[in-house]
Amino acid sequence: MRTHPPHLPLLGDLQPGTTQRHSVTLPGTELADEPRPIVTVTGARSGPLVFINAGVHGGEYPPIEAVIRLSRELDPATLAGTVVLMPVLNLPAFWKRTMFVCPVDNVNPNRVFPGDPNGTYSEQMTHALVNEFIAHADAYIDLHGGDIPEALVPFSICRDGDTPVDAKAKELASVFGLPYLLTVSRPIQPAKGSSSYVAAAERGVPGFIAEAGGVGQLQLDAVDLLTDGVRRVLAHLEMIQPMVVNAAPPKLLTAFEWVYAKHPGMFYPAVAVNDVVRDGQAIGKVGSLFGDTLETVIAPVDGRVLFLTISPAVQANGLLMGIGAGE
Ligand SMILES: [Zn+2]
Repeated sequence: MRTHPPHLPLLGDLQPGTTQRHSVTLPGTELADEPRPIVTVTGARSGPLVFINAGVHGGEYPPIEAVIRLSRELDPATLAGTVVLMPVLNLPAFWKRTMFVCPVDNVNPNRVFPGDPNGTYSEQMTHALVNEFIAHADAYIDLHGGDIPEALVPFSICRDGDTPVDAKAKELASVFGLPYLLTVSRPIQPAKGSSSYVAAAERGVPGFIAEAGGVGQLQLDAVDLLTDGVRRVLAHLEMIQPMVVNAAPPKLLTAFEWVYAKHPGMFYPAVAVNDVVRDGQAIGKVGSLFGDTLETVIAPVDGRVLFLTISPAVQANGLLMGIGAGE
């Protein structure tokens, strides 16, 4: 546990018993474009420091709204410890409604953790997130959802490992209470870096991703799932009184297979999110703009469709769905 009240380099000394609004320019030569809103809720009493962000992907609105609501709801008079909340990391994507990547450098920020202080915009942004916030926390929650063209079943992800940090991350992700928990031991897509929760674990901070909502809309049931999950974790850490009932333990999944189109065209899925599919099953078609079938999409594993691209236009190698396996 950190000293209380905590001191974060970019935020200075936090005042016990207060909610403070900050407008923070992240360090990095590329990041002077716009300060980011951050709210700190510093309890009157000592306790853990939990860092929560959304908006690593700027078109995932239920997680962004969940962070905004939590920043106004948490009561510093009764809180033990500190909650640091950042509603949107990837502000360029938020303003431009860009899917998957940051429009400044066309990089997916969640593939370049822990970042690079001398790299591109996304690399500097993730480097700042890790070093200025995540590394100072006792626990880290990265809220996501389906991006603008994706429907999604709520699930959490943490690193599959045998360290105490991995065990704690899995414990907190289970407490969060989404129906599925994926533990992954290798990058989901080959990339320069890894994901937020891996960077956190490498800095000794238990962290996980929680995903709910999608399709570019503000689904209030998904906002509730995410805010309830954070409330459960904070109560589990004895920072707040329990506000919501415990959830059933998540179903554990141990592999995440992503399915891509070979050809560009129109995607016609034959499955819905949350459907269970079998290895070899036809799960959709890609057609040309003349209406000819270009390919039948085949499930590569037995598993459950955790997210599904519901906007038909796909490029060659375009992402169609993610299947969670090992249930
Ligand atoms: Zn995301």
